[in-house]
Amino acid sequence: MAGDLTKYKGSCHCGAVKFEVWAPQTITVVDCNCSICVKKQNKHFIVPLSQFKLVSGHDALTTYSFNTHKAKHTFCSTCGVQPFYIPRSNPDGYGIAPHCLDPPPAKVKVEKFDGQKWEESFKKHPNIASRSKAK
Ligand SMILES: [Zn+2]
Repeated sequence: MAGDLTKYKGSCHCGAVKFEVWAPQTITVVDCNCSICVKKQNKHFIVPLSQFKLVSGHDALTTYSFNTHKAKHTFCSTCGVQPFYIPRSNPDGYGIAPHCLDPPPAKVKVEKFDGQKWEESFKKHPNIASRSKAK
């Protein structure tokens, strides 16, 4: 893994789902206001597939999808927590919940994403699509 990335560990609440993720020391978290992010209070940061490793809990995960079905909202079927998912903005990566890292990251930068106008916001965003591309 690239030298400037930090390895974080994360899990759901009951501990069935465990994962590792490599991300910068300061994490840029997307705070989206689309229909599901609001209901879930889903804050997430985006990493390429190659920077994520599911350690355990593959069989514990349930997937919910709706509308375009591009986003795969994976969550633990026992405790209901969504520690990571595949976001619509980055089907080639993962959206990770910083609050599911153990311990939570010390440095977090929050960025608003207007998911009420999803297509427009995605087009206007300077780099969200590139965040899931391997460096
Ligand atoms: Zn769980």
